[in-house]
Order: sequence, then C-alpha cells, then structure tokens
Amino acid sequence: NVTQPNNYLMEKPQYSLSYSRDNGGPNWVSWHLDPSWLGSTPRQDDFRADTTLPAGWYQVQATDYSGSGFDRGHMCPSADRTITVAANSATFLMTNMIPQLPANNQGVWANLESYSRTLVSQGNELYIISGGQGLRFFIANGHVAVPAQTWKVIVVLPTGSNDVSRVTTATRTIAVVIPNSGTINSDWRSYRVSVDQVEAITGFDFFSNVSSGIQAVIEGRVDNQ
Ligand code: MN
Ligand code: MN
Repeated sequence: NVTQPNNYLMEKPQYSLSYSRDNGGPNWVSWHLDPSWLGSTPRQDDFRADTTLPAGWYQVQATDYSGSGFDRGHMCPSADRTITVAANSATFLMTNMIPQLPANNQGVWANLESYSRTLVSQGNELYIISGGQGLRFFIANGHVAVPAQTWKVIVVLPTGSNDVSRVTTATRTIAVVIPNSGTINSDWRSYRVSVDQVEAITGFDFFSNVSSGIQAVIEGRVDNQ
C-alpha cells in the first residue's frame, strides 16, 4: 500500500519485507530456510537498487553506504539462497540491506547465519525474521538510517509439512538483539533474549499464526542450546 510508505509490504519469491521509505531500508525481512534453497551457486555480489519500489521513492543505491564505515548488511543472507543465480542475486537488492558495522555483520551476525544453516544440515527448517531497531544517525545524505541494534528471531522445526500446525510449546525459538557497535564479541549466544523482548522493542507480534497459548510459551523463554 503506497499510502503507508514506512510499512510497505514487498513480497519476493525469496523473502518478504516491510520497507520504510524514510529509513531507506527494511523494518523487517522474513524468509524460510530449508534444503530447497541451498545449492552451489556462488555469491553474485550484484548489489543494486530495488527498482520495484513505488515511483517517486528514493531508491537506495549500491554505492550509498560507501565511505560510511558500515557494511551493506544482508538480512536474508546470500548464503541462504544458493539454489539458483536468480535466487542468490535477489538477496543483493538494497531493500534487503541494513547498515551494519563490520564487527556486527562479519562477526556475531555471520556466526548466527552460519549456525542457522548448520541447523538445516541437521534436518531442520527455519522461519527467520530480522531487522534493525533504534536510530543512531543517517548516512547517504539522509537517505539511509543506521539502527542502534540488529535483531533476529528464528523458529526451528524438524523438516516436514503443515509447519504452523507443528509448532508446539516444545518448539525451539532463538532470538537475539545485538548492538550495531564496533566493540562487540562474536558469540551470538551471548546476545540471546526472549522473542517477547524483541516484540517489546520493535512493537511487532511475531508468530501470530500460532495460537496465543503456544506463543506465550515459545516467546517467553530464552534459548539455552
Ligand atoms: Mn551479513
Ligand atoms: Mn507473538
């Protein structure tokens, strides 16, 4: 809905997102990770503007983060979409990016991304949502907001079908909130919180297709595996 420029839903074959025109990036990006997305396609590295944004909206350019000190941080990772060139290339749209400091993006964030693919290799499928929260400042002449922290929530299910109906109070969830800072450690486990805590800072209701009774349990505890 173009009349909601700061909560503009974009559904792509590879992931979905809520876009904020004024922040020049996603409020959240959501994707499914299972073996059907994983192959041997190399990283395409074709960072580019998303030309599917509504007419007249600023399109964040591939070069807009240059010189800022911030990485073009994928939400849906390149390595989660390696089944085809088209699938991998889709992750390089700038609507899938948030400015992340290297210590966040290349360290702790990348480690959780890698762990997620390990879970898939062990027979699981994942539902993942991530984004940024809080405002540090703007880069790119005011076009791109830099968040104070990045967050991610994950549902872990054994690979199967009818996924929503298989979520129970025993289902594993993982949630993290990580400072977008240069002085953080690389252990994602040290940044774990409950899903409820991420809901509290973002205002989003994750897993809303799951019954409220089950949500209360799986969102209220902190992963310890
Ligand atoms: Mn990254
Ligand atoms: Mn919820």
